[in-house]
Amino acid sequence: MHYKNFKTVVYIPAWIAFNMTPQKLESDYEFIEKYIGLDKVYLETHRDDIDVDRDKIMMIKNFLEDKGVVVSGGITTTVCDFEGAEQGKRRLFNTFCYTDPAMREKIKDMAEYAAGIFDEVILDDFYFTDCSCERCIKEKGDRDWVTFRKDLMNDVSKNLIVDPAKKINPKIKMIVKYPNWRESYHFTGYLPDDQQDIFDATYIGTETRSPKYADQHLPEYLSYSLVRYMENAWPRRNGGGWFDTYQCWSVDRYMEQAYLTAFAKAKELMFFQWSDLIENHFVGGMKIQLNKIDTMLDKTGEPTGVATYIPYASGGENHLEMRLGMLGIPIEATPVFPSDKKVILFTESAACDETVAEKIKGFVETGGDAVITTGFLRRTGDELRKLGLTEAYVSDRKIAATRYQITGDEAGYIDNVKPIIFPEMIHGNNESWSYINGGDGDYHTPLILMSTYGRGRIFTISIPDNPSDIYRIPAHATDVLKRILCTSGYVSGKDISMFTYDDGSIILYRYVKGDIRPMHVNICTTAQAGALRDEVTGEIYPAMPYVTVEGFEPHQYMLADVIITPGVIRKFRWI
Ligand SMILES: [Zn+2]
Repeated sequence: MHYKNFKTVVYIPAWIAFNMTPQKLESDYEFIEKYIGLDKVYLETHRDDIDVDRDKIMMIKNFLEDKGVVVSGGITTTVCDFEGAEQGKRRLFNTFCYTDPAMREKIKDMAEYAAGIFDEVILDDFYFTDCSCERCIKEKGDRDWVTFRKDLMNDVSKNLIVDPAKKINPKIKMIVKYPNWRESYHFTGYLPDDQQDIFDATYIGTETRSPKYADQHLPEYLSYSLVRYMENAWPRRNGGGWFDTYQCWSVDRYMEQAYLTAFAKAKELMFFQWSDLIENHFVGGMKIQLNKIDTMLDKTGEPTGVATYIPYASGGENHLEMRLGMLGIPIEATPVFPSDKKVILFTESAACDETVAEKIKGFVETGGDAVITTGFLRRTGDELRKLGLTEAYVSDRKIAATRYQITGDEAGYIDNVKPIIFPEMIHGNNESWSYINGGDGDYHTPLILMSTYGRGRIFTISIPDNPSDIYRIPAHATDVLKRILCTSGYVSGKDISMFTYDDGSIILYRYVKGDIRPMHVNICTTAQAGALRDEVTGEIYPAMPYVTVEGFEPHQYMLADVIITPGVIRKFRWI
């Protein structure tokens, strides 16, 4: 292994394997070994209309194994029309029609072939179905597509892939890799909750590419938080995170994907794919950066963050928690209701759990703080009000806020900022209390509302109509939200992520986007610390007391001011 905390892994797709020569393999290997360091390869046997013959696979496998590289298999479950299959079906991305007998036979053959060569095989994230051909419509019957595809893919996973593979090679480990579009899995037969009983391990796409233009509009922070989500979904069975060069356009944007995947403690960093790396300046500094990260992670505990409940097969306010991650709020998303935490964040996605209101009641009554969004309130408001958890509701009106008032702060007035459209929240005065108002003219709406229930509290936070506007809310106002969500401390600013670990380690990373100059950043803690120490350089930043008033009571922090440069990874600890 080249690094202590993760393996560096490269994927060789079938079209590269198919055309590989011994000479090319040798020179490619030398490049990758020099600039990344190669621990492991996933070598693909099938994709689209390419099946790689055994001799070619063995030539590559033997060469790499002689170099000490671990070689596992890969399959991409795409296929072009072939003789025997029903022709002319419309399937996006050449995915399979899993009701077609010839295609079912084909995927079984593919699984058995790979199992005859490898002890571990990963399915690339085309293992979904969007087929709605006449045969699939007929087999679906009265079920909806989600239910039909769930049943179908459970059958295919067990009976056509995993069981046949294990029959050929009983010690084989079968891995299902999930794509970066978690919120849509269930529409296409991706069911991590069911599939964890069928497959041995999982893997996750962390390619965020260009957040502005990528089809799935993914905030950069996904490369961290989706790994954490899968770690919480399949504890200790998430194999790694997988990223690529596409739509990255800058070295920093490309490398950030690797950094965040590593900060999330993914066991493997998968570089997709082999030929994209060769002679690509994107990987020029990779080894230098991975060595730095490896040293930082050496003495670092387990990741921590704001527990965010995202049930399986859910959607709504998609990626909102990742946008909060871009504001410096560490997020620990999980499909398992995190009832042991002090604070839980509920975005609209949490409303897909039909029993969530009851769960919140139990959680808050015993002392928890539930932080819900306006999207969540819109979806579950009736139940929350019926249970007596809130009286607030979201009206049909919008407010273009140009002014903010932080109600607990004597100097908490911010005027004349560019308008941001918020939903209007109506509440009972003094039944609940607004921590921040947003307004224009002589009217305003609460942006953070607090009410009590039992021994706990419910905070409702207003989300702008365009979720990206969350980055435009003045920092003084988003700090209030940070103080509610992050009970042990927070960092001011935006385009910055704070990665926190249970041993007190803090990794800070400012993205190379927006304002790319060095900038003063305030880091606060509730601990009685005297200073913040840079764990790499040993520099000491003295801390000074900082007091704010929120919810009628003063909150005390120790604050350190640090200059942070975009693209530079820092590790700190309070001392
Ligand atoms: Zn079909």
